[in-house]
Parts: sequence; C-alpha cells; structure tokens
Amino acid sequence: MNISLSVLACTPVNQNTFLLITTKPRGFLFIPGHSCLLGFSDHEPTKARAFTFISTNQDEYLAFLIKRSPSSESVTHDFIRAQPGQELCIRGLFGTHRATTPGTFIASGIGIAPFLAYARTHPELTKQSTLLWSLKKAEDIIYEQELRQAFKEVIITLTQERHPAYKQGRITKELLSTLPLTNTQVCGSYEFSTAIKELLMLLTH
Ligand SMILES: Cc1cc2nc3c(=O)[nH]c(=O)nc-3n(C[C@H](O)[C@H](O)[C@H](O)COP(=O)(O)OP(=O)(O)OC[C@H]3O[C@@H](n4cnc5c(N)ncnc54)[C@H](O)[C@@H]3O)c2cc1C
Repeated sequence: MNISLSVLACTPVNQNTFLLITTKPRGFLFIPGHSCLLGFSDHEPTKARAFTFISTNQDEYLAFLIKRSPSSESVTHDFIRAQPGQELCIRGLFGTHRATTPGTFIASGIGIAPFLAYARTHPELTKQSTLLWSLKKAEDIIYEQELRQAFKEVIITLTQERHPAYKQGRITKELLSTLPLTNTQVCGSYEFSTAIKELLMLLTH
C-alpha cells in the first residue's frame, strides 16, 4: 500500500507530544481506533512507524499524535519537525482496537490515542464508558477537558508525581477492582499492556 499525504502542520500539544495534521485523500476511510504505518515518501520504508488516527472520517484532514522519543536515533524527531508540504506515505493500515460496546478503556501515555478517536467518533459509547489513564506527570496530560466531557468517568493516575487533582501510583489490582470490567480494552507499551492484562485475568477468572 502506498497512499500519499502532504503535511499541513505539526504543532506541539505539550512538551513531548505533537499534533501532526495531513491532507486526506478523497474517499479515504479508516476504522476509529486503528493505526497506519506512516513514513516520509523520500525515506526508506523501514523508517515508517505506526501512528493512530485521532481525526474522524468526517474531518477533511488526518490527524495523529506523535510522542517524541528520548532516543536521539528515533524517527519521531523527523515527524515532529515535519514542515507543511512535506510528502508522507501510508504504507499499511491495521489495528486491534475498535469501538463496539461501552466499556473500561485503560491507557498509558500515548496509548490514549485510540480512545481519543473513540471519544471523537462514538461519543454515545464513551458517555457510558470509563477511562483509566496512567501517565508519568501532570504535564504529560493532553486533551483532559475533552476526555472528561466525552467519558462517563475519567481516572488519571500519575506514577512520578503527587498532585491533588489526580491519583498517584501505578495501576493496581485494587484500583481495577473498583471499575466495571466488562469490555476492557488496554493500550500502551508492551510491558504496560502485559501487566494490566495479567491483573485483569486475576480479577475476572
Ligand atoms: C498499533 C500502534 C499504534 C501506535 N500509535 C502511536 C501514536 O499514535 N503515536 C505515537 O507517538 N506512537 C505510536 N506508536 C508507537 C510508534 O509506532 C513508535 O514505535 C514510536 O514512535 C517509537 O518509534 P522509534 O522509531 O523511536 O522506536 P522504534 O524503532 O519503533 O522502537 C520502539 C522501541 O523499541 C526499542 N527498540 C527498537 N529496536 C530495538 C531492538 N533491535 N532491540 C531492542 N529494542 C529495540 C526502541 O528503543 C524503542 O523504545 C504506536 C505503535 C503501535 C504498535
């Protein structure tokens, strides 16, 4: 697959996260919660990375969140410096996240992206759903107001900072046991997802 896009803008959302807006080919559709393999047209295909659509199919553009990686080698540095007019290429479409029924959606860091897509596309579903989001610090939180309006309940927990407005610490079995655990979906790093799925197994089996 080779779908050409042009960068319209890339602007900071906070200190480490950038909003990349691109053109959208006529008739292009995707499943909310899904991702694409995105690269620069003039870079090697191996430098393409997975990014999750956070725009809706009704928007006339595509939008992605790009989290800057601390590694100086990371291709995320190319994405966050993207200039209007630069050519990008979607090299594949994929995903396991899909909004089906209300549930409990559990994210860490940039793993919020598919659930933000749900909020924007299926507000009737997120209005009956709980969002549990783990981040390092309060400064890492993005789109908080939008998320609080979109979900029935939003619980944010910070692992590296105490803050009066948020919970503190990692997600525990005790915290999960207070939530409705039907249709749980998890999105985050491999380590985060594995740890949460293990806790969910303990609680539901
Ligand atoms: C389905 C999906 C959706 C995603 N959506 C988003 C999104 O919306 N926004 C976003 O910012 N990111 C998203 N990501 C993450 C993104 O695709 C990149 O992985 C991320 O930006 C890091 O890219 P990178 O080039 O720095 O590291 P990558 O090369 O992708 O590597 C990822 C991690 O693996 C480590 N690694 C790489 N190679 C090796 C190796 N040989 N041995 C050991 N460790 C290695 C790196 O240190 C790094 O920590 C998504 C990922 C997936 C799978």
